[in-house]
Amino acid sequence: MTYVFAPCAQPSVPVTGRAELFPVHRIYCVGKNYAAHTREMGGDPSKDTPVFFTKPADAVVTGGHDVPYPPATEDLHHEIELVVAIGKAGHGINRDAALDHIFGYAVGIDLTRRDLQGLAKKNGGPWDLAKGFDFSAPISDIKTVADIGHPSAGRIWLDVNGSLRQDADISQLIWDVPNVIASLSRFFTLQPGDLIFTGTPEGVAAVTKGDVIRGGVDGVGHIGVRLI
Ligand code: MN
Repeated sequence: MTYVFAPCAQPSVPVTGRAELFPVHRIYCVGKNYAAHTREMGGDPSKDTPVFFTKPADAVVTGGHDVPYPPATEDLHHEIELVVAIGKAGHGINRDAALDHIFGYAVGIDLTRRDLQGLAKKNGGPWDLAKGFDFSAPISDIKTVADIGHPSAGRIWLDVNGSLRQDADISQLIWDVPNVIASLSRFFTLQPGDLIFTGTPEGVAAVTKGDVIRGGVDGVGHIGVRLI
């Protein structure tokens, strides 16, 4: 097979301890998956269920590389998240079997044009412009299940220029990782190479050009990027 022009490069994420890269297929994201964050966004966690949206695979930024401040926003927000890396295909996956589909875990930042997301919510429009822009998914190296198991508790945190902004625990996820996989796989066939950003805790706020964002999930890893 040849193409009319060279295809774009396969997006990928390094894997700690491995020479081979994790080839990114799709990026799924969960919104409203921590009660305190749902409240800070004006929602009611007793009524609002978690939601799904996507980012393009080539939105990943790896290796701690600088992240360009995106155009068309004046309110870029950070969202620190536990990321699940899928290693085995499946659809209609049962909660009990969900962990078998996981290759590993990483730490990601779901960068969000909050002003455009607010407009989309007001107008009943899609979130693509708010969530799916270039360089919107900085991510740490992936740690394999063989190395770290399946973390279900542990501190998740983010600071900006050394000032703590987000500080919670992944045990506070409304839909835990097995529930996220079970639910998402009712709508999509999960494939090896899929990444799932599982949602952010409270404390989201704006960042500006020049800011250094650092974060982590205990037992999973750390991420650090500069906005340029
Ligand atoms: Mn998010």
